[in-house]
Amino acid sequence: MTKAREIRLKSRPVGMPKAENFEVAEVTLKDPGPGEVLVRNSWMSVDPYMRGRMYDRPSYVPPFQLGEVLQGGAVGTVVKSNDERFKEGDLVESMLGWREAFVASGAPLTKLPSTAVPPQAYLGVLGMPGMTAYGGFNRYGQPKEGETVFVSGAAGAVGSIVCQVAKLRGCTVVASAGSDEKLAWLKSLGVDAGVNYKKGDLLENVRAAAPKGIDIYFDNVGGDHLEVALEVARPFARFVECGMISIYNETEPKPGPRNMSYIVGKRINMKGFIVIDLIDMREQFISEMSGWVKDGKIKWEETVENGIANAPKAFLNLFTGANTGKMLVKLD
Ligand code: NDP
Repeated sequence: MTKAREIRLKSRPVGMPKAENFEVAEVTLKDPGPGEVLVRNSWMSVDPYMRGRMYDRPSYVPPFQLGEVLQGGAVGTVVKSNDERFKEGDLVESMLGWREAFVASGAPLTKLPSTAVPPQAYLGVLGMPGMTAYGGFNRYGQPKEGETVFVSGAAGAVGSIVCQVAKLRGCTVVASAGSDEKLAWLKSLGVDAGVNYKKGDLLENVRAAAPKGIDIYFDNVGGDHLEVALEVARPFARFVECGMISIYNETEPKPGPRNMSYIVGKRINMKGFIVIDLIDMREQFISEMSGWVKDGKIKWEETVENGIANAPKAFLNLFTGANTGKMLVKLD
């Protein structure tokens, strides 16, 4: 019998989530049955999209249910296995995070290779955020050498990879983030110009950073950033609509950008996507990104909270910008 703690949704947040929307519970796990494995998680992913699943409304993934354990990406180690594809000690990735351990069918688990890369990288640069950045930028951004790319939320898990992939594709990169420290880190990665969106006028600052306009906008933020990107877009610009974190906690729908008519006049191609749409690019992503990581051409940061009880805090911190790079929880 194994005991494990898990994080449950206690109440649906209204506006900005609060610690009291979550609860920690302890469960006793049964022994794995035929085809099942017992896994002890070591790292948990903390992701903004989880906010969407806290609303009770139809979406591309079902909403979290009150009183039930939250689900998120995790890596862990197989402790017992009744599935011949896994043996004790194997490192696995799953969507069965937000719990310290679980017993489940081996079917949805992915065995991770034992490489020099730390396991939690499979929740970041070599996992879902890396795939979102690589696939979304390449497929929908269609970058060409010499073009100018504007990235919002640029110091986060997805944004920081987009910035570096854009540099590797020969683009000029203008990054927006919420602190000078984040921008200094992005500059050290090769970003050409940075805009602290919390200081001064966003439009003026982006115009100054990209005086000839932008060819690609990779949007993690929406709202005022999207309006500014429409303003400075060059004809035939591509807008990769990845996320809109600035409006995830709004209690009423927000009016869209006031300058949407530029989409017509500038013939802008605006494409929303979800990472699962890019599944056909997975092998290409793993191969090219692993090579870049091995060669030191792509770097990443992690912001780590320790212990499952701090997972809600880590989640809330996404909305105040406390993380640089990938937000993770390290489990005991
Ligand atoms: P991040 O690591 O970027 O963390 C969130 C960051 O967003 C914070 O660090 C903060 O940085 C910034 N932020 C928070 N609130 C605001 C605000 N009001 N205005 C501007 N910036 C804000 O998260 P991810 O990299 O995991 O995700 C980035 C985006 O990509 C999100 O919108 C997410 O939903 C989306 N996403 C979409 C996927 C898809 O399949 N389409 C898959 C994965 C992620 P700062 O200090 O700069 O404010």
